Amino acid sequence: MVNLKGSEHDSTSDAIHNENAVGASQERMTDEKWQAIIRNDASYDDKFFYAVKTTGIFCRPSCKSRVPKKENVRIFQNAEQALSEHFRPCKRCKPTGQRLPDHEWVEQITQCIDMNYSETLTLEILADMCHGSPYHLHRIFKRIKGITPVEYVQQTRIAKAMEYLIHSDKAIADIAMTVGIPNTSYFITLFKTKTGHTPTDYRQLNRNKHTTEVLQNGRKK
Ligand SMILES: [Zn+2]
Repeated sequence: MVNLKGSEHDSTSDAIHNENAVGASQERMTDEKWQAIIRNDASYDDKFFYAVKTTGIFCRPSCKSRVPKKENVRIFQNAEQALSEHFRPCKRCKPTGQRLPDHEWVEQITQCIDMNYSETLTLEILADMCHGSPYHLHRIFKRIKGITPVEYVQQTRIAKAMEYLIHSDKAIADIAMTVGIPNTSYFITLFKTKTGHTPTDYRQLNRNKHTTEVLQNGRKK
């Protein structure tokens, strides 16, 4: 009896402790909230907001955006808290109640590309992630950035590949895969079109340049 009472007491104090530990800014994901997200349940709007870590965007429960992976979701009590954690408001469901200016949407899209360039990224997938129509996304992105979203994706991938070529010994096929272009021969063609060199030549040139610089610096001393 004494033992039972003791453990009861312990579990009560644990519960209180846990509630405090969650803190004011982040709420716990519950089954109820997850169901509300999956069903786009408008009766939960303004009761909580949810952010998706892989896109950096937050929504109302009723938002008709695609269902994210549960482990990537964070729950907030209000929009201010999501904003203070650097999540950006969704263009479609406007969780702050304000229209999202085009340049801010384009910032969201570029951030989304920077975070997901290693995945398959078509215009449709990107539009789905960033909560707009493909046509709209393409047009607004091009107007503000001067290049198309698909060109920006390629540019990002080639820039990352250049870093890997210089700073790692990864094989070309691995680098192609890592930057989201699983077809190696397509990667090589694209790399050459964008930089004027094949990946192998680019790596060699920069290694030589680096060696020359090191030697020159050595001589200066
Ligand atoms: Zn939304």
